[in-house]
Amino acid sequence: MNNSPVDRALFDQVMVPCFAPLDVIPVRGEGSRLWDQSGREYIDLAGGIAVNALGHRHPALLRALQDQADQVWHLSNLYTNEPALRLAQRLTELTFAEQVFFCSSGAEANEAALKLARKYAYDHAGSDAGKHEIISFTGSFHGRTLFTVSVGGQLKYRQGFEPVPAGITHLPYNDVQALKDTVSERTCAVIVEPIIGEGGVVPAHAEFLKAARELCDQHGALLIFDEVQSGAGRTGSLYAYMETGVTPDILTSAKGLGGGFPIGAMLTTRQIATSFSVGTHGTTYGGNPLGCAVALALLDTLDNPELMAGVKRKSQLFIDELRALNGEHGLFSDIRGQGLLLGAELAEPYKGRARELLALALEQGVMVLMAGPDVIRLAPSLIIPDNDIQESMTRFDRAIVRFLGNG
Ligand SMILES: *Cc1c(COP(=O)(O)O)cnc(C)c1O
Repeated sequence: MNNSPVDRALFDQVMVPCFAPLDVIPVRGEGSRLWDQSGREYIDLAGGIAVNALGHRHPALLRALQDQADQVWHLSNLYTNEPALRLAQRLTELTFAEQVFFCSSGAEANEAALKLARKYAYDHAGSDAGKHEIISFTGSFHGRTLFTVSVGGQLKYRQGFEPVPAGITHLPYNDVQALKDTVSERTCAVIVEPIIGEGGVVPAHAEFLKAARELCDQHGALLIFDEVQSGAGRTGSLYAYMETGVTPDILTSAKGLGGGFPIGAMLTTRQIATSFSVGTHGTTYGGNPLGCAVALALLDTLDNPELMAGVKRKSQLFIDELRALNGEHGLFSDIRGQGLLLGAELAEPYKGRARELLALALEQGVMVLMAGPDVIRLAPSLIIPDNDIQESMTRFDRAIVRFLGNG
C-alpha cells in the first residue's frame, strides 16, 4: 500500500484530465453540510449537480442501501429482482408512464429514449419512410455518449468527435415558429428539457411545450422530455411536466432519482415500449437492486405534499435572499428558475466570470454551481433547512464582496 497523501495534486497525476476539480476534497456529509479533509465545513448548494435530492446521509436512503447491501447486490437481467419491480411499479403509479427501462445514468436513459424513438418510427412508418429526424434545441444538454452529444445543443461537446450520427436538427429553444416550420412527417422525435439545466437554467414557455406536443401528434412523432435534471422533485413536483399541462411520450430521469446512487430510468407507454422487444436494447447494470432500493426509498420520501410544498417555499426564500443581495450589489441581470433549480445570471460587466465567483464562494464556505460561464446555478437538497439557506446567503454575500473587490 502506498501511503502518500491523497490530495488534489494526485488528480492531475492519475486521472484522465477531462475535469478540473476544485482544490478541496470533501470527505463527509450530513444533510446540507459537507466537511473537507482538514475539517472545514461547507454549505452544499450544489447537491452533487442536482443529484443529492435529500442531502447527505438521509436516514431513509441510508437504511434502504444498507438493508439491500445485506440481501443481494446484483443479479443481471437473466433474473428480475424485487427492488426493480417495486420501483417500476411505483414510477408507473406516480407518472403517466406504464413501463420503465432502468439504466445507470442520464446519458444512458436518453440513449435509450432516442433509440426507442428511431425504432418506433422504423416499426410504424417502415424502413423506407426516412422517418428518423430528431429535433432538439440550442443550449440543451442530454449527456456525453456520441448520440447524446450529437443531439445536445452545444457544439463544443461534439466538436472533434465527428463523424457524429446523422438526422439531427437543432432549433432555437422556446421558438414556436421554428418548431412549426421544421417538424414534419420525417420527424421521429422532439427532445426537450422542460427547464434547460447545464445550458443556463432556462425554463421552457408553456406555449412552446404545448406546440411541441401538438406538432408531434400531427406528424406521428414522439415527444421526449429530458427530466434528468428537472425531475425527482427538483421543481416542487415529482416531474416538471406535471406543471406544464403537457404529457410527453417518453421521459428520462436520473441524477436526483438515486439521491447519490447511480441510477437512470426511461419511462414510456406500453404501446411505445413494444418497439423494444427482447434483445433490441439492454444494459448490464439496469435495474441493479442497490440502486433501485435507494430510488424506491427516495420516491417514498418525495411522495409527500408537504415536502413538495417545502421545495416551492424554499425556492422563494432563495429568490428573496438573492434579490436582496442583488439590490445591494447589482451583480446579476436575472434571477430565475423553478423550485430548487435556480440560476442567477451575471450582469454585462461581469460576464464570463461565474467560475471565479464559484471559487470565492467555496472560500467563504458555500458550494454553488455554474451553468455556463455567465450563470451561477443552485441545486441544493430539497429539504435544506431554512437556517442553512440564510447562512449560505450570508456567506455568498461575503463572496460577492470579494468578487467585486477583485475588479
Ligand atoms: C446531467 C444531464 C444529463 C446526463 O446525465 P449523466 O448521468 O451525466 O449521463 C442528461 N440530461 C440532462 C438534462 C442533464 O442535466
